[in-house]
Amino acid sequence: MRAVVVGAGLGGLASAIALARQGWGVTVLERRPAPAEAGAGIAMWPNALRALDALGLGEQVRAAGTVEIGGGIRTASGRWLSRLDAADLRRRQGDGVVLLPRPELHAMLRAAAPAVTTGAGVVRVEPGDEVTPAVVHDDAGGAHEADLVVAADGVRSIVRSASWPSVTPRVTGTTAFRLTAAHELAEGGESWGGGDLVGLAPLPGGRTYLWAVVPTGEAPTDPADDALGWLRRRLAHWHAPIPQVLAAVDTPVLVHRLEELRPPRTWHRGRIALLGDAAHAMTPNLGQGAAQAFLDAVGLAEEATTDPSSLAAYDRRRRPVAEAAARRSRRAGQVAEWRSPLAVAVRNALVAAVPASAAAAGLDGLLGLPATRKELVR
Ligand SMILES: Cc1cc2nc3c(=O)[nH]c(=O)nc-3n(C[C@H](O)[C@H](O)[C@H](O)COP(=O)(O)OP(=O)(O)OC[C@H]3O[C@@H](n4cnc5c(N)ncnc54)[C@H](O)[C@@H]3O)c2cc1C
Repeated sequence: MRAVVVGAGLGGLASAIALARQGWGVTVLERRPAPAEAGAGIAMWPNALRALDALGLGEQVRAAGTVEIGGGIRTASGRWLSRLDAADLRRRQGDGVVLLPRPELHAMLRAAAPAVTTGAGVVRVEPGDEVTPAVVHDDAGGAHEADLVVAADGVRSIVRSASWPSVTPRVTGTTAFRLTAAHELAEGGESWGGGDLVGLAPLPGGRTYLWAVVPTGEAPTDPADDALGWLRRRLAHWHAPIPQVLAAVDTPVLVHRLEELRPPRTWHRGRIALLGDAAHAMTPNLGQGAAQAFLDAVGLAEEATTDPSSLAAYDRRRRPVAEAAARRSRRAGQVAEWRSPLAVAVRNALVAAVPASAAAAGLDGLLGLPATRKELVR
């Protein structure tokens, strides 16, 4: 059983770990000279933690992170519209939301994964069929035969573009900023203005992870622009502690034009399976992109055999769930980023009308409910 995983991002590494645990011989090809993950913080929701449990990493990730102290949604002036009770979420899900530095999460996966071949950009894949193995060609002239190829090469996947030419990313028209700061938070959550949104979450060591999403047309266009200065000016009048966090930033600001994927009709072709952002890149509004990639990794390793027809079971198990998360995330982003003052007022009134007791329950459909062990990772 030979698998080639293309891409050593969070999804590819998780897939390599899951397949190796099922007895596959795994080759991981990464085009970067060193596998690494830029990024400020990352939120691991309970469904992500359950998938990490299945990879043997759940406890390590929980121990390395900070559990969200409770949050909700506020207006730009700081008026709470809704609150998510962390204890209620934990009661329903068995876990809170764990926040940790993204490079640390990537390093944990890397340490648990089979060795990564770096500087190996995949240029072409022959998908193979029931009788013929797939062949993965890299830019150093290497040709790797495989019973299974995992396309985990991100939203602009080269593997996907050859076999699914009509499946292309779409820009959302919004730009995300991510940063961390030496500031200890009392409360996290997201704040919605008229078109902009800002999130705050606690990181270990008394630090804060801040993300902001603004319309791309209003964001600095050149990476050399002073993104931090721009953000400080843009958010100067937002509620505390947003300006204070921005004053305490001591890491580079990451700027990211957001994209999402038009959903493919299937996630498999020949012996190729799509996974992670290559299959379902979504807006980051619900913090579900990596969570769904981890669930893909667990699902694929449980369903795949050397018979490529087994990939249909992976598709049936994972595609509807991940696509539902992507749709929900897109809708959440659209509502959070409404600009018209009237629409914003109506939205705020509607969000404020949702009782606090319903907030955690409202996430059951997205996160799934931990019932039996088998259920946990589905
Ligand atoms: C602003 C923002 C905030 C987010 N916050 C969260 C969050 O809090 N929680 C959460 O769960 N998710 C979050 N996400 C989503 C999450 O970051 C992604 O879904 C996840 O990182 C995708 O991982 P991936 O491995 O599928 O793809 P990628 O991270 O894109 O990795 C792809 C890898 O493939 C490599 N590669 C590309 N092409 C080739 C090739 N031809 N040959 C070999 N290698 C190749 C790349 O170098 C890269 O290492 C967020 C996303 C954004 C944009």
